[in-house]
Amino acid sequence: MEILEKSVKNATDKVIYHFANSQEDIKIIEQVKQKYPVKYTPFLLKLFTKSEAIRKQFLPSVEELTTNGTPTPFEEGKKASKTYGLERLYRDRVLITPHFDCPAYCRFCYKKSRVMRNKPAMTYDEIDLVIAEVSKMDQVRGALITGGEPFLDTDKLFYLLDKLSELDNISEIRIGTRTLLTMPQIYTEDLCFKLSTYNQINSDYPEKSKYLAINVHFNHPDELVPEVIKACNSLTSRGITLRNQTVLLKGINDNIETMSHLFQLLIKNNIIPYYMNHCMPVEGSDHLRTSVQKGLDIYQHLCTESSTAIPHYVYAPSGGKVHVGPDTIFNYINVGNTRYIKVKTLYQADEFKKIAKKDLPPMHEVTSDGYIQGLYIDGRDD
Ligand code: SF4
Repeated sequence: MEILEKSVKNATDKVIYHFANSQEDIKIIEQVKQKYPVKYTPFLLKLFTKSEAIRKQFLPSVEELTTNGTPTPFEEGKKASKTYGLERLYRDRVLITPHFDCPAYCRFCYKKSRVMRNKPAMTYDEIDLVIAEVSKMDQVRGALITGGEPFLDTDKLFYLLDKLSELDNISEIRIGTRTLLTMPQIYTEDLCFKLSTYNQINSDYPEKSKYLAINVHFNHPDELVPEVIKACNSLTSRGITLRNQTVLLKGINDNIETMSHLFQLLIKNNIIPYYMNHCMPVEGSDHLRTSVQKGLDIYQHLCTESSTAIPHYVYAPSGGKVHVGPDTIFNYINVGNTRYIKVKTLYQADEFKKIAKKDLPPMHEVTSDGYIQGLYIDGRDD
């Protein structure tokens, strides 16, 4: 814990004015900081000197004040459950958020309405309540420990892992983290060994096996520097699966060469390219959002390469993820100056209401055969 506290740094350096070209820009960035705070780690600061692609992900831009986006594009939040830190949006898995904060703030974070707002972490008592509730959910078999950043308090994380591992109904635990990039130094031999002990493959009774995997988040080949690869290898060499979730970002990785290089580099280093996510329409991120079609143009090329390096390409209206295939044709609707994609999701409205215990999100409706249909704000390529 002490190591973590020392390594986390609130941003006050002049580097945050990197994208300011005038005194006027500096004033605007001051306003941006008030609305969407800026935070990064000393390790990221080192990478900033070498990579524009990394700087653009963490340093504020004057463009953040102009936005079409919404504060909570994926409608996640503690309201989805009575129990603080627990959400259930799907039949077979739950989301648990032990920490709402992060050591570094990605400018495009779709959870910025809670990550950047000093929400308290879960207490040990609240973790106990979550465990008691999850133990009674008979259709649930997986738990995604998400954030914020679960590795901000490793004692609490291991307490949660211990408790989840004891549940008969939970066989799959995933942890979502960006610390492999933001603070790779925390992945000591001890930490990685301890994480690996939650992989419990039972060869005599395969139905009783349980496993732990980590969802990592790399967006550009510049991020895969030696310290980062070493940390990843400390996990994969102990049998922990790493799956990468990339966000498609305008001016950062929105071209075939960068994406192709990234996914090949991940594969070479034993990290599975898992998702290529279209950047969500969260407020303040318009300047980083391409059209969904631009991602499809890249994806179609990726599909001509070895299938080991092809992630799922998805975008996510509030009603649930939508997979894009190489043959997808989008159904556009224009409202004023905003272009939306209208799409029927895979999720049934009745089941969603029952499981998530809430009504459909705004701009969503039920189709005649009972599925959720939603509108998704498209990005722009100009
Ligand atoms: S690491 Fe994830 S949760 Fe944290 S700020 Fe970045 S995108 Fe948001």
